[in-house]
Amino acid sequence: MARDPRYDLLFTPVRIGPVTAKNRFFQVPHCNGMGHAMPLAHAAMREVKAEGGWAVISTEECEIHPSSDLTPYVEARLWDDRDIPALALMSDKVHAHGALAALELSHNGPTASNLYSREVLIAPSHQPTKYGYPAQARAMDLHDIREYRRWHREAAIRGKRAGMDIIYVYAGHDLSLAMHFLQRRRNQRTDEYGGSLENRVRLLREVLQDTKDAVGDTCGVALRFATEELLGPGGMELNEARDIVGMLAEIPDLWDVNVAAWYNDSLPSRFAAEGAQEPFIDFVKKTTSKPVVGVGRFTSPDTMVSQIKRGVLDLIGAARPSIADPFLPKKIEEGRIDDIRECIGCNICVSGDMTVSPIRCTQNPTMGEEWRKDWHPEKIPVRRSESRVLVVGAGPAGLEAARALGQRGYEVNVAEARKELGGRVTRESRLPGLSEWARVRDWRVSQIGKLQNVSVYQDSQLTAQDVLDFGAEHVVLATGCHWRRDGYGRSNGLGIAGFADSDRIFTPDDIMDGRLPQGRVVIFDDDYFYLGSVIAEALRKHGCEVVYLTADDTIASWSVHTLDYRHIQVRMAELEVDQVVSHNIVGLEGTTLSLEHVWSGKPRTLECDAVVAITARLPDDALYQSLLSRQQEWTDAGIRSARCIGDALAPGLIAHAVYEGHRYARELDADPTGDVVFKRHFHTD
Ligand code: ADP
Ligand code: SF4
Repeated sequence: MARDPRYDLLFTPVRIGPVTAKNRFFQVPHCNGMGHAMPLAHAAMREVKAEGGWAVISTEECEIHPSSDLTPYVEARLWDDRDIPALALMSDKVHAHGALAALELSHNGPTASNLYSREVLIAPSHQPTKYGYPAQARAMDLHDIREYRRWHREAAIRGKRAGMDIIYVYAGHDLSLAMHFLQRRRNQRTDEYGGSLENRVRLLREVLQDTKDAVGDTCGVALRFATEELLGPGGMELNEARDIVGMLAEIPDLWDVNVAAWYNDSLPSRFAAEGAQEPFIDFVKKTTSKPVVGVGRFTSPDTMVSQIKRGVLDLIGAARPSIADPFLPKKIEEGRIDDIRECIGCNICVSGDMTVSPIRCTQNPTMGEEWRKDWHPEKIPVRRSESRVLVVGAGPAGLEAARALGQRGYEVNVAEARKELGGRVTRESRLPGLSEWARVRDWRVSQIGKLQNVSVYQDSQLTAQDVLDFGAEHVVLATGCHWRRDGYGRSNGLGIAGFADSDRIFTPDDIMDGRLPQGRVVIFDDDYFYLGSVIAEALRKHGCEVVYLTADDTIASWSVHTLDYRHIQVRMAELEVDQVVSHNIVGLEGTTLSLEHVWSGKPRTLECDAVVAITARLPDDALYQSLLSRQQEWTDAGIRSARCIGDALAPGLIAHAVYEGHRYARELDADPTGDVVFKRHFHTD
C-alpha cells in the first residue's frame, strides 16, 4: 500500500546539530527495567524500534557517576569506561537500521538513591531525599559543582565513544541536578548558583555548553526540559519556564519539552487524552529556532501532522506508542494505518520499571521479550503442522491466541458465548475513563478480519460435547473468570460472614453488567489496583453515596506503579468519596457492616445499603474440567491437546491474558525442548 500523501510531512528529515533524523518519529527516553543489568535484552528491544522506522532511539536515563546511583531501579549506566560496551551494543543495533541513537545523561542528586554505591547524596542545598529514604542530601560546594560538570562532560565523551549520536542534558521530571538547581524549593543557595533566575540557570547553561564543547562536533546536544510541575510557586511554573527557554533558546541543538513529574507526563488515558501537553509546551517553538520534540501518547498520524503544521512540534516524541507498536512509523509509511496497535494508556509498561522487572506492555506482548524469547512484534514462525485449533472465548487471551495462530497460518475457529467480542476488555472499557482499553479488542478483531484462515462465531456458548464434536486437534480454553461474592480474598481467607447469601452484595461483574446498587454503598477493595476507584466513580455518577473501604493502609496502593495513584486520590476527593482505610470487614448483618481496625483491633460499624466486594476471582474453567474428565474420548474426537489460558487459568491483568494468548500461539507445535523458558544474562556456562 502507498503512503497517504497527507502524511508525507512526517517523513521529512530534521537536522539536530551535526546529525540528521531521517524522519519526524522520535523515541524519547523511557525506562524499561532492563538497563545496565540486561544489556542484550535492552539493545534488542531498542533495535526492534529502529527496525520499525523510528528515526531516533533514546536510552532511558543514564547514571553518570556512583553518586547518581538509582538502585533499585535499573537504568543505563556510564560511571566509567567499563560501561561503554553495554551501551555500544544498543547504538550498533540502532545504526544498523539507519536510526540515530540518543543518550539521556543524568545525575539525579537528591532524587537518586546511592543505595548501591553508598555515596552521600548531593543537592543544590541541604534537603531530604525524594523517595523517603531516611537520609538527607548534602549541599554541593563550588568544588562539587566543578566535579559534577566534569562527570557530566566525561560521561558525554563516553557516550560518544559508545556510538551515541545525540547526547541529552536532562532537566526534567524533577529528576536531575540540572533541574534541581532551577527549582526554588530545591535551591536555596546564596552564591552565584542560587537566588535570581539568572543564577539558578547558570549550572544548566554551563552543562549544556560543556556538553557542546565535549561532543558537539559530531553529536547533537538535546535539552530535556520540564516546563511545568503543577506545584504552584516553588515548582517550575510556565512563566519561569518561558524565561528559561528564552535565556537558553539557541544553545541546545534540540529542545525536548514536557511536564513534570513523571506522573504528570505519562498520564494514564483515564486522566488525559492524546496531545494533552500542548498547552504547556506550545510556546517553546515560538521562542527558539531549534527543533522541538514533545510527547502526547500520539498514535494518530492526523494528530501528528497537525502538531507539526500548527507549529507545536517538529518531531513527534513517543515512549508508550513506540512500546505498544514499535512499527508505528513503518505502518504509516506503508499506508497501513489500521494495522497500528495503539497504546491504551494503561501504564503497565511503567509498572515494569517500578517493580524493578523487565518492561511489559498490555498491547504488545513481545515487548521485553525481543532477546530473551526471540519474539518479534511483527514476525512469527509459520505453522509447523496442518492442525486445526479451536479457541473458546474471545477475551484478550482468546483473541490474541487466535490472531497470532492465524498469523502463523493455522486454521483457527473462535467461539464466543456472548454476542459481543472482547470479554473483560469490552466490559471494563464501559467503565468511566477506560474507553481506550477497547483498543485491545479492536486491533485484534480487525487483524483477525484480514485473515482468511480464522473464523469467529459469536453468540456460541460451547459445551464439552460441542468441543468433542468439533474435533479440532488443539483446543484453547480462554473462558475467563468471575468475581467472588463470598468475601474471600487477601484479607479474609475464610470469606466474610453474611456475604454469600446477602442480596446487598454486588461484584464488579454486576456493575459491568449494569446491575447497580442504590443509596449508600461501601466499596470493599481487597484488590488494591484501579477497579475500586473506577467503580467508585461509576457509582457516584449513578447518584450513590460512596464509602471506599480497604484493609490496606491507603486506597489503590498498587496504582502507584502505573502512575495513577495521585490522580485517583484527587479524583476521589473531587467526587467526595469517603475513605475508610486500615479496616477489615468482620461481617454483614442487614445493613450493618462490622469492621475491625487492622492494627488496633478496635471494632466499628458502618451502615450501608449495599457492598461492592472487589476481593478475588475464580476461573471459569468448568468447560476445561469437563473436557479433562472426558479425556478418554479425545482420541476418537481427534483432539490432541486442550489448554486453559488467561483468566480461566489464573485471573490477572489484561496484560497477562494477552501475553498468555500470544505465548500459546508461539509455542504450539514447538520443539519439546524440556523446560528452557527464556535466555538469561550472566549465565556462567
Ligand atoms: P481473558 O482475560 O482470559 O481473555 P475474558 O473473561 O476477558 O478472559 O474472556 C473470556 C470470554 O470467554 C468471555 O467473553 C466469555 O463470554 C467467553 N466464554 C466463557 N465460557 C465460554 C464457553 N463455554 N463458550 C464460548 N465462550 C465462552
Ligand atoms: Fe501503552 Fe499500556 Fe502498552 Fe504502556 S503498557 S505502552 S500504556 S498499552
